[in-house]
Amino acid sequence: MRNVIIAGNWKMYKDMTATAELIEGLKSRLTSLPPRVTVVICPPFTSLAIAGTLLKGSPLALGAQNMSQHDEGAFTGEISWNMIRSAGCEYVILGHSERRQYFGEKDELINTKAKKAIASMLKPILCVGETLAEREQGITDRIITAQVRGVLSGLTRAEMSSVVIAYEPVWAIGTGKTATPAQAQEVHQMIRKLVSQIYDWPLAEQTVIQYGGSVKPDNAAELFSQNDIDGALVGGACLKADSFAAIVNAAK
Ligand code: PEP
Repeated sequence: MRNVIIAGNWKMYKDMTATAELIEGLKSRLTSLPPRVTVVICPPFTSLAIAGTLLKGSPLALGAQNMSQHDEGAFTGEISWNMIRSAGCEYVILGHSERRQYFGEKDELINTKAKKAIASMLKPILCVGETLAEREQGITDRIITAQVRGVLSGLTRAEMSSVVIAYEPVWAIGTGKTATPAQAQEVHQMIRKLVSQIYDWPLAEQTVIQYGGSVKPDNAAELFSQNDIDGALVGGACLKADSFAAIVNAAK
């Protein structure tokens, strides 16, 4: 059975006080997790240090929402792998559609960051997804194939053991429109087959492929019941302890 990873992308929400409140709420609701289930919270950069401190001794892991491809230097406003690791991060979300859309991030840069993250002992959550226009044109497979090949380019089989892929149809992010379980499963199966073609089946079988896009407590269990859906990357519903804990409990 594959591992399941539920990650909460807090985006640009929660100051330090609100971070502490949400973490306390999560810790009281998620006191233990089955060994195959990992829960990651990804607060904003300014909350990572306090989150790292508060999460010590809890079963919850910490992730960042982005990182620089550079080690250090004159890159105003950027945050390095070393900074997020020293705050306690084990994971980093890379190539979220909002980074692609608003900050011009392309597959090549996401791939460079992924290599840097893995070399720095961080596990990258690599996001891919088609827009509504692309789905309506019937080119979802082509878009996803190009993105997956692009973000994984040059990664060795050994490096792939750290990689998480998140399929997030752009039209379902923050819109309340969820892909149906069947629509999501179809793309997840396609991604797994593609990973098997780039590497091999045993590796593809182990690769965690999360679904993201308006995952809520009332649709999580059905999504998680699909063969190739191994957890979720959650936006809106991770901002409240009750709803995020309910999504995690749907995966147990
Ligand atoms: C996301 O930000 O990755 C996301 C999936 O958001 P939401 O759950 O709000 O659609």
